[in-house]
Amino acid sequence: MLENKIALVTGASRGIGREIAITLAKEGAEVIINYNGSQERAEEVKQTIEAGGGKASLFQCNVSDFAACEAMVKEIIKEQGHVDILVNNAGITRDNLIMKMKEEDFDAVLNINLKGTFNTIRHLSRQMLKQRSGKIINISSVSGILGNAGQANYAASKAGVIGLTKTMARELASRGITVNAVAPGFVDTEMTEVLSQQVKESACAQIPLGRFGKPSDIANMVAYLASDKADYITGQVISVDGGMNI
Ligand code: NAP
Repeated sequence: MLENKIALVTGASRGIGREIAITLAKEGAEVIINYNGSQERAEEVKQTIEAGGGKASLFQCNVSDFAACEAMVKEIIKEQGHVDILVNNAGITRDNLIMKMKEEDFDAVLNINLKGTFNTIRHLSRQMLKQRSGKIINISSVSGILGNAGQANYAASKAGVIGLTKTMARELASRGITVNAVAPGFVDTEMTEVLSQQVKESACAQIPLGRFGKPSDIANMVAYLASDKADYITGQVISVDGGMNI
């Protein structure tokens, strides 16, 4: 499905990003695994892809750094000649009620989740415009659609990702580039591992399908949106959340 495609996946050293990288590679794409701090974990993802007969390489870059993203994109294009798929998955949480939320925690979440997504699109869209093709998939969240108490920074960043997605879809459509967002609900990763049993149970009660998602639930949707089967889909926010957003 994705043979001869080059895919850049941000935050692919762990969790959902790891699964997206492995899934895209299984479909035939050559994957660039971006990570920030977890080099060993990123190496493990590369080895897993190669053990399955796929191709992968690593690129360390803090996506919140505009200049570092520019350098990453330049080097990848120099090396590969083209980039066909960009998955903006890197993200963090710094949860707290608004009265207690520190300015630095608001800034950190916005800088990585929203500005990081802007940074990669800003630098890579020029190449995709030249190619007259490209698939951009941004990972948003159900929190960005519904809001979530304790997540003012995170929900704002993920709502921002939706606005960015719709605007980029309009700007880039005439050159055959699609831009979509996937909005996961609660997914079993290190991000949700930290939640107390009580919070997990009350979250589950809000999920019609009655369980947290698996990283593969998200990765399968990303692989579909990255494929030519989704050529006529752009500017959409696809919820993969067990029905939370019905
Ligand atoms: P996770 O397990 O905590 O993994 C986060 C990933 O993002 C790691 O690979 C991390 O890389 C990377 N990352 C963090 N800061 C970065 C930076 N500045 N530059 C580059 N990479 C960075 O999180 P996850 O649960 O897989 O979440 C992945 C995405 O899905 C996020 O955007 C998250 O908001 C979204 N999401 C998750 C859920 C959920 O329930 N898990 C629900 C909705 C949406 P390093 O370890 O190398 O720093």
